[in-house]
Amino acid sequence: MFIGHYAVALAAKPAAKHTSLGTLVAAAVALDLLWPFFVFAGLETLKISPGSTAVMPVDFLHMPYSHSLLAALGWSVLAAFAGGKIIGSLVFSHWLLDAASHRPDMPLTFAADSAKVGLGLWFSLPWTLAVEGAMLTAGGWLAVKSGVPFNRLKWFLGVLAVLELAAVFGPPPPSELAMAAGGLAQLTFVWWAKKIDPC
Ligand SMILES: [Zn+2]
Repeated sequence: MFIGHYAVALAAKPAAKHTSLGTLVAAAVALDLLWPFFVFAGLETLKISPGSTAVMPVDFLHMPYSHSLLAALGWSVLAAFAGGKIIGSLVFSHWLLDAASHRPDMPLTFAADSAKVGLGLWFSLPWTLAVEGAMLTAGGWLAVKSGVPFNRLKWFLGVLAVLELAAVFGPPPPSELAMAAGGLAQLTFVWWAKKIDPC
């Protein structure tokens, strides 16, 4: 899932009025911000594979440290200690949403032969766009209702929606490392969200 993670961060705003939207976004996409480092270090692997699912032209071959259930629980507990239970819950929400989207490639443990899960929303392009679009709309609405200025948030939402469409309808990433770097580029949205809503 991509923009759905941002939707959850936005939806958390009413429950976290004194936390910057930047912090909420960082928590919701934290596993994707960690993932590139494990890929660059050679500890996690992926393969560009057009047609792997209707939405995502990538096989996530091995990602125990960023995206296994056990790792997600560990990162969430760490995040909860550092930032409280809403931040911890946002970190864990990432795993649940990815498990809904991915084909069964999300490992449960660190073991190489771990069982893997995934409900496969990504097998359907229309359903992916409908679900993530509805989530982003609802999340944006909740954030605006709790005081995030719409005139600043609208560009953020618009760029996310355009990037989702570009990722889905555009060419696959040119390389595995470019794909991982794209994950890290989400830091731009963390920075932008902090600008929109500093507290
Ligand atoms: Zn992810």
